[in-house]
Amino acid sequence: MDFELSAEQRLLRDTIRSFVDAEIRPVAREFEDSGRYPDEIVATMRKMGLFGLLVPDEYGGMAADMVSLAVVFEEISRGWMGVAGIIGSHSLSCWMIARFGTEEQKQVHLPALASGERRTGIALTEPGAGSDLQGIATVATKVGDSFILNGRKTWITNARHADPLPVLVKTDPSASPAHAGMSVLLVDQSTPGFEVVRDLPKLGYRGPETCELVFDDAVVPAANLLGGREGRGLQQVLAALEKGRINIAARAVGVAQEAYDQALRYAGERDAFGQKISGFQAVQLKLADMAMKLQAARLLTYWAASRADAGQRADLESGLAKVYASEVAYECAFTAMQVHGGYGYSKEFTVERLYRDAPLMVIGEGTNDILRTVIAESLTSGRGVIG
Ligand SMILES: Cc1cc2nc3c(=O)[nH]c(=O)nc-3n(C[C@H](O)[C@H](O)[C@H](O)COP(=O)(O)OP(=O)(O)OC[C@H]3O[C@@H](n4cnc5c(N)ncnc54)[C@H](O)[C@@H]3O)c2cc1C
Repeated sequence: MDFELSAEQRLLRDTIRSFVDAEIRPVAREFEDSGRYPDEIVATMRKMGLFGLLVPDEYGGMAADMVSLAVVFEEISRGWMGVAGIIGSHSLSCWMIARFGTEEQKQVHLPALASGERRTGIALTEPGAGSDLQGIATVATKVGDSFILNGRKTWITNARHADPLPVLVKTDPSASPAHAGMSVLLVDQSTPGFEVVRDLPKLGYRGPETCELVFDDAVVPAANLLGGREGRGLQQVLAALEKGRINIAARAVGVAQEAYDQALRYAGERDAFGQKISGFQAVQLKLADMAMKLQAARLLTYWAASRADAGQRADLESGLAKVYASEVAYECAFTAMQVHGGYGYSKEFTVERLYRDAPLMVIGEGTNDILRTVIAESLTSGRGVIG
């Protein structure tokens, strides 16, 4: 059993780490406080090819393996998890278009998405349905060579920059089971009747915009149906979310690592009762617990990623990694805040941002409770085996 990254993966990690230290860390607090969109960081990420992580090389992408993808998301999230959001749902949708798109859809979209000239995201959640995706109400009615879309989506990250935006719809609202009537449409930003109506105010994750969208008789060419066949949408997005959960787990590992690093550093600097606080056993126990859980979360995430790279179904593994790593990130962020005492509550210290960013990983890409039910279903059906 080999627990080491390959030479190529180490090189990628070191390259991203240098970029994060030079260009993300120094500006993260200022950008986050002001709400300014990190255009300069995006420009460098474009040059580095990071928008093409999951795009096949024949369309100009990096065709990265999932362990490499985890390394990239972990490193970026050590600096600022919000920036990881800019390439998060983008990468997931690039993978989905490459895996399920028609050859024409791949040729039209993937090269521009790989270079970051155009960007994307994914629109699943609605005001009335998030976990229960088969309960969505957005309907696309076929009229001639077009679909007419009506409905609302909410909490859609990168919505103002996404072109095209893959949107989960019902092409046959009467289908039973409901997923047999669900499809994904690739919606261009300029589509008449499509409007991004507002940016949602958020606790953290302030780099990318997260928006509410309205489709009011929006006219989408039938050629924009992902894969060219109706009724495949739920299956397409669930396959993509499996990759997305590895990305979320890796972001959580990055946040947990940064929380640990900040706590360790501060404990070695702060004096109380005539000694460094790192000399107190209560602080030492906190540091030990953080290190232990953080490393376990990292190994679980790389393991899930390597199972996906081996071409195996990895819904159980990516679920285990996402649930565990996100809860570790949340715990480590709070523990790091406690180690900082009152300063941990200050906006002048990084742990305050980590504490606001961490809960998103518990909620996004399937809540942890929903994922626990997915894990349990895999175990009780005998499909997933532990041990
Ligand atoms: C910052 C941010 C960015 C996001 N970006 C995107 C995006 O880009 N695209 C997108 O499509 N969505 C996005 N989302 C939405 C996110 O995926 C959903 O919020 C999430 O899936 C939960 O759905 P919901 O909010 O409707 O909660 P609900 O589904 O209403 O769940 C509410 C609670 O009920 C529980 N629950 C529901 N059903 C069950 C059940 N069967 N068993 C047990 N418990 C259950 C849930 O676990 C949760 O605790 C984003 C959300 C946030 C906060």
